[in-house]
Amino acid sequence: MFHSTRGNKKVSASEAILNGLAEDGGLYVIDELPKIDYHTLIHETYQGMAAKILWAFFPEFALEDIQKEVNEAYKSFDTKDVVKIKECDDAYFLELFHGPTLAFKDLALVLLPRLMKLAKEKLHIRDTITILTATSGDTGGAALNGFRDVEGVSIVVLYPNGGVSEIQEAQMCSFRGKNAKVLAIKGNFDDCQNFVKSFLNKHKELKLSSANSINIGRLVPQIVYYYYSYIYLVKVKKIQDGEYIDFDVPTGNFGNIFAGYLAKEMGLPIRNLICASNKNAVLTDFFHTGLYDKNRMFYKTNSPSMDILISSNLERFLYYLSPNGEDINKYMELLKTKGEYVFPYKPDFIYAYSTDERTTLNIIKEIYRQYGYLIDPHTAVAYSAYSEYRKEKKDSCKTVIVSTASPYKFAQTVCEAFGKHFDVGEAIQYLKELGFSLPDVNYPPIQRESVDLEEAEEYVTEVIKCFM
Ligand SMILES: *Cc1c(COP(=O)(O)O)cnc(C)c1O
Repeated sequence: MFHSTRGNKKVSASEAILNGLAEDGGLYVIDELPKIDYHTLIHETYQGMAAKILWAFFPEFALEDIQKEVNEAYKSFDTKDVVKIKECDDAYFLELFHGPTLAFKDLALVLLPRLMKLAKEKLHIRDTITILTATSGDTGGAALNGFRDVEGVSIVVLYPNGGVSEIQEAQMCSFRGKNAKVLAIKGNFDDCQNFVKSFLNKHKELKLSSANSINIGRLVPQIVYYYYSYIYLVKVKKIQDGEYIDFDVPTGNFGNIFAGYLAKEMGLPIRNLICASNKNAVLTDFFHTGLYDKNRMFYKTNSPSMDILISSNLERFLYYLSPNGEDINKYMELLKTKGEYVFPYKPDFIYAYSTDERTTLNIIKEIYRQYGYLIDPHTAVAYSAYSEYRKEKKDSCKTVIVSTASPYKFAQTVCEAFGKHFDVGEAIQYLKELGFSLPDVNYPPIQRESVDLEEAEEYVTEVIKCFM
């Protein structure tokens, strides 16, 4: 069973997946975190590991049903193992961008609609459910794609006007589906996310759910690649059986890195987690001082999927770090009213760093020069944190750098790293000439629609009513 970070009321896995957000505004967490010894997964394929891990969280579904959905879901990936690992000295880049929209959110968003389908069957729900989702760029495309063929589910995607890359916008706005709506909100990502949270709470009559990483069904599939990459490194004898390793994660909403934390708590030999941020360093400061302070400048950076000041999944992390009975409500209320709170319990396994845009570009160039390997700006932010971490720790613990997007998706920024100021078309051409085989994306955006934040509620309500 599951309960909220802000209360004790229990719900089943199906309800947690379909509700998205708990009634009291909190996030769902599992009553008892399962332990999984990685040895029990060592002979599994990626898909096999995924099914077993999902089943440990959602045992009310049949393992065979989960396995079937997992197998189907990952067919759209361009590698049969779902992810790839690239070695560069002591660092291993875990490529999570082999799905249909070229960013890591595909890993969970091809599965979430299928979990929702199982949950609807379990609860005998026949009404159409509308997925309301805020995106900093990558969730939107991945969610539209994931929900494409799912019956009884419609989807509304909200993104910050002018706050996503051209290719991200093209992926979303060129999407055609009769139960899909894509809308730019005149605000930043935090505005979009806050809008979604309050809309979900306010409009219970509309049969809503969320595909954001606040949904527990998003989080669990992300645990899988932590297990997979650890087991991979054991199998290719890069690490000893049982050796501790570090993971380095470029972080925005704290979803991806939180899945790493769950893997650690479930028994995977993870030593430290490196939390990498861009110039929006709210998490870096938080882990250094204990003060979470969102009252600060919001920067639009060249790693836009991490341009976030309110990291939603941090709430789950605080919940786990707090001793029994600690009231998460108090912190979240302070965040809402004052924009800040002080959290007194500091985890000793998190190392946090932030990086500016210039360094991000330099790293893209440097990694290409040194290894002939092209990385995207989010991964470069992670690499920067890794370099600083190595200087600080002075040891050679193996580190997996979680690579969250294909360089192609941020082609213009990548070209800028090489001193080329191109438009999107030229940038893509340039990368092709560098020898990268690139998948096709519809370009340019065909139709875009934007709305003021104040008008969004009325507008979105209308859209959803049309779907029902
Ligand atoms: C969403 C995203 C992130 C941040 O992930 P969180 O789970 O929100 O911390 C990092 N990189 C890319 C490319 C993303 O799309």
